[in-house]
Amino acid sequence: MKNCIFCKIIKGEIPSIKVWEDAETYAFMDINPTRPGHMLIIPKKHVDYIFETEEPLFTKLFVNAKKLSKALKSSTGALKIGLAIEGIAVRHVHLHLIPVNNVNDLDPCKSKKGNIEELKQMAEKIRKELKD
Ligand code: AMP
Ligand code: ZN
Repeated sequence: MKNCIFCKIIKGEIPSIKVWEDAETYAFMDINPTRPGHMLIIPKKHVDYIFETEEPLFTKLFVNAKKLSKALKSSTGALKIGLAIEGIAVRHVHLHLIPVNNVNDLDPCKSKKGNIEELKQMAEKIRKELKD
């Protein structure tokens, strides 16, 4: 989709801090994390609304989110990994995977511009956990 920032990330037209990908999905660090480790998983194909995502892609997103959540939880030591799906600012389906320890840890008002080096280090840490 023209002018979609996440389609541009998939095509490599704008940079992103990749964590993992497979043939249908792509996971990368959110540049304005709500909590350290905040990442996104998106379908490579442009879909606007999560509940209009066709099968088997819909299931694939959640299966891969589950796989990533395990690595994210062990690399951050968080109590749980929270899931948020809203897609008002960016109209390309994305699942927010956010390490949570307290109520309100998913609150998007808490998001702040991340430090690129710290985001890269976090992505590396998560990738290592995925391999183990
Ligand atoms: P929303 O559509 O409300 O779920 O918000 C879009 C999310 O995408 C926000 O958390 C942004 O920080 C994030 N975001 C926007 N552009 C980028 C980008 N280029 N790289 C990583 N994350 C992004
Ligand atoms: Zn798109």
